Amino acid sequence: QTLGSVNEKFSKTDENLRRLYIMSELRYDGQTVVVTGAGGGLGKAYATFYGSRGANVVVNDLGGSFKGEGKSTKAADVVVEEIKAAGGKAVANYDSVEDGEKIIETAIKAFGRIDILINNAGILRDISFKNMTDADWDLIYKVHVKGPYKCARAAWPYFRKQKYGRVINTASAAGLFGSFGQTNYSAAKLSQVGFTETLAKEGFKYNILCNVIAPIAASRMTETVMPPEVLELLKPDFVVPLVGVLTHSSNKHETGSIFEVGGGHIAKIRWQRAKGGLLKTGPSMTPGAVLKIWDNVKDYSKPSYPEGPADFMGLLEEAQKLPDNQP
Ligand code: NAD
Repeated sequence: QTLGSVNEKFSKTDENLRRLYIMSELRYDGQTVVVTGAGGGLGKAYATFYGSRGANVVVNDLGGSFKGEGKSTKAADVVVEEIKAAGGKAVANYDSVEDGEKIIETAIKAFGRIDILINNAGILRDISFKNMTDADWDLIYKVHVKGPYKCARAAWPYFRKQKYGRVINTASAAGLFGSFGQTNYSAAKLSQVGFTETLAKEGFKYNILCNVIAPIAASRMTETVMPPEVLELLKPDFVVPLVGVLTHSSNKHETGSIFEVGGGHIAKIRWQRAKGGLLKTGPSMTPGAVLKIWDNVKDYSKPSYPEGPADFMGLLEEAQKLPDNQP
């Protein structure tokens, strides 16, 4: 349907309603979506959403426990059947995201293309840092860092060639803010912010838009740490609409952004730089000189919002123009 036909339905004063109406009609016909870890939780919600809106869906899931033990084809198969029963198109893939190229190959073999990649698969190996083993650390790294890399790396040549791609990576509040007992997970999840921001910069001229979400949702990952009445407010379905908007072809500019999303709340998150203090570099840049400007270093009353390494370079020149620091 055209924008004109939508306009006929709503008067100009109903701008918000008109927008909502257009959004509710977002479709993905003819596009192929890969959702990793789509056998349950958030991944299942994404997969069934895209399946119900015309996309070809690759339902990837290793089918192991939430700690990353074992595997099974059942998790992915059940979701594929559900999508098909509702009239959608879907195929299963049972590989670990560590073998991302096999997952993308499934998309190409089954549907001949890949348009949207949702890097969602995840596990937990929560343990205090004192008791952390290399195995706990490495497994989290493999699933949450190497997996998204392998999937994106395999999809990238297709995205570039067709000058179209939409990627969602999955971070976590644990990565943004830290979380007791989750050093491995926090480190891996924050990596997705840097990964996404650089992918966004490299991809933009090829119309490849990449965003990262820090979701909160009821799933087997969270069901043991939150009470049932809270879980009820946090259905994975409430994360899906944002992902639907960001990965739709009507999104032409939103890229390299971090979103907090869950339970009806959606907000962008960004880095904030305090006022800061400048010191002349050289012998007079002593710890005592740092203490003299300490209040400015932590003064957030007039923040700035740096967006890249170049934002810092200008400050270097300014620092050079300063007189020597007073002892
Ligand atoms: P979930 O356990 O329900 O879903 C994760 C899925 O990934 C599972 O079906 C699992 O079998 C699959 N999986 C695990 N390892 C895999 C691998 N190597 N290859 C392929 N599939 C694999 O959990 P969820 O809550 O839906 O989590 C989805 C994503 O969201 C994860 O990346 C998680 O870290 C992140 N996340 C979730 C929350 C939350 O509140 N639920 C919060 C922050 C981040």
